Formats: sequence, structure tokens, C-alpha cells
Amino acid sequence: MSALLVDNIGELVTNGVGEGPLGIRRKAAVLVEEGRVAWVGPAAYAPAADRRIDAGGAAVLPGFVDSHAHLVFAGDRAAEFAARMAGEPYTGGGIRTTVGATRAATDDELRAIVRRLRGEALRQGTTTIEIKSGYGLTVADEARSLRIAAEFTEDTTFLGAHVVPAEYADRPDDYVGLVCGPMLAAAAPHAKWIDVFCERGAFDVDHARAILACGQAAGLGVRLHANQLGPGPGVQLGVELDAASVDHCTHLSDADIDALAGTAHSDGSGTRTVATLLPGAEFSTRSPYPDARRLLDAGVTVALATDCNPGSSYTSSMPFCIALAVREMRMTPAEALWAATAGGAQALRRDDVGVLTPGARADLVVLAAPSYLHLAYRPGVPLIHQVIRNGVPQ
Ligand SMILES: [Zn+2]
Repeated sequence: MSALLVDNIGELVTNGVGEGPLGIRRKAAVLVEEGRVAWVGPAAYAPAADRRIDAGGAAVLPGFVDSHAHLVFAGDRAAEFAARMAGEPYTGGGIRTTVGATRAATDDELRAIVRRLRGEALRQGTTTIEIKSGYGLTVADEARSLRIAAEFTEDTTFLGAHVVPAEYADRPDDYVGLVCGPMLAAAAPHAKWIDVFCERGAFDVDHARAILACGQAAGLGVRLHANQLGPGPGVQLGVELDAASVDHCTHLSDADIDALAGTAHSDGSGTRTVATLLPGAEFSTRSPYPDARRLLDAGVTVALATDCNPGSSYTSSMPFCIALAVREMRMTPAEALWAATAGGAQALRRDDVGVLTPGARADLVVLAAPSYLHLAYRPGVPLIHQVIRNGVPQ
């Protein structure tokens, strides 16, 4: 059996037992066997191993868990971004531009784009990523989007209800029927989750409830885009349906906060429905950021993700999102890192990633920095020195 020892770690973030909310250990080592964390402890007591990586006294973290990404698309919307930065408002209508380009692309073209973006994210420390469909919006195009996504992740999400495509613009009920019927049947074999863009201009609460219920009946877990562009019933619908996560949460009422906080486990160990914040979207649409403090102070479990997509947040960088969360949403650096690792794992209802404790998947990031604090302290700097995924140095 081949064992790998990651040794001489100055600051190890475990999200388990250790100092503070991040479970930090100093002068530590991690033993990896068969893709899993086999041992965590003081470097001075590290067991022998066939191979050794010397972290050189730097910080080591769990790999980032990006629980919200739209990577299966074609085309480019840089001009739309430039127009927005020149003062035009974001409405979500540009999704249809990407739908046209995606439908026109070949399987190999789509696959090459996903591969490029997945590689880009991995080099920035993302070892687990969720990938949504949602730019095909036909039975065949949604099914192939998910088939391709499944080549890159096990967390695939069917988002046929991203927007009503132009050809159904005057008969949205018919489109909901298509999504719940033949599209779901074609998508479900390749999907773990179902998602709906529940927002004015996309899908109202009745359509969203109907679509998510169909998905649940087909065995898919629920997640939801909610309360991004304005207040609405999406967050409470998500809680009602035991969604793993409600995503965006930019415009929340007190009742929304109460509903999310009310899902907390009785032992205080977090919530069933996570609030996933996507500050890259607010950055790229020049919109007000979600009130992360209000969520955290109410005891809601918060995750951070990129929302990587060609329209409203074309970043694959979790370190960038951490920096935004700290600077713009007043999360502490510790809260932001937890949200980008363990929080993302909870948003995907996974306990094998986002932590570095024995039994977890051996996904480690070695920073070119002495502390995780540098992720926000040195924004825009490539601090990801080495990524180990599934026990394999990348
Ligand atoms: Zn999204």
C-alpha cells in the first residue's frame, strides 16, 4: 500500500478537532492512504510513508468545495459585461444568448469548455465542484449537458428551469410540462440534483414547486436559485422542500432568515438547508451584496460558491470569492474559509469532503503562504502552491 505523508505543515486547517472554528493544528502532518486521510497529528509523531511532500512550514487547507457552477455552455458575454459596467442593469435576460450558442455547439466543443474551466478551478484549489445544466433547454440539449457534466463531477444538477426559452415565451405552462415530463426523464439518469431559477422573469413559486416536486419524485435532491434579484418566496419554498441549499439569498426578509435558522439541528451542528452566497454575481453585476452577517448571527449555515457562468459571474476562483466575502460581506476570514470548504460540503450534503479528518477524501491545498488569512489579505495573488485531490498530487 502506497502512503503519502504531507509533512512540515505550519498551519493545518482541518475543520475538525483543533483550535477555533477551523480546527487548526500547528506543526502538523497528514498521512494519506488510498485516497483518504489516514492520520492527522503533530509532525514530530508522523508515521513513515513511501512518499513525502514537504509543505515547508506553509498553510494546508481542505480543497475548496464549489457547490454552485454553470460550466456547460458555449459563447462569451464580455460585451454584455462591458455594457453593464457602463451603467446598464442586469436582468437575467442574457441567459438566452448563451442558450443559442450552447445549442449550436458540438458535444466536443462543450466538453472542451467544461474541461478547461474544471482545470482552471482545480489549479485554484477547487477539488469538489457542482456542475449544472441549464443552457440547453431542450430535452436533447439538457440531457447531453448533464452527460458531459457527469464526466467531470458526481454532483450534477438538472437546471432545465433556468429560464423559459424564447420558443415557449408565451406559454410557460407548456414549458413547465416539458421540464417535468420528457426533459426530466432524459436528464435524471445523469443528475443528482434538480434546481430552479425562482425569480421574477424566470419561474414563479408555483412553477418552481411543481418542478422541484417532480424532481424529488424522480429521486433527485433539491437546490434552488432564490432571492437574487429581489425579495420573493424562493427561500421559504426551499426550506419547505428540504432543499440542500438555497443559493444567492441577496434579498431576505426576517421570515426568510427565521425559516433558514429554524432548520438548524437541535444540537446546533448546523442546518439542513444551507444559504449559499455567491458574491461573484454581485461583483459582476455591480449589485448590493447579501447580508452575510445577518445569516451568520442568526445561526444559519452559510456556504460560499463561485456561480461560475458566462453572464453574471465568470470566475472560477474560490479564493476571489473568499476575499469578496471578507471585504464586502463582513465575514471573518475564518467564516469565509469554512463556508468555502465545509459549508460547501454541507450544501452538497457530503461529509467526505471539506474536512481533513481521518476517513475524509484526501483533498488538500498547500498554500504559498504561512496562514489561510492570506487568502483575503493578499487578494488576486496566486497563493495555491499545490493541490492534492483524492490523494493524488495534481
Ligand atoms: Zn447560478
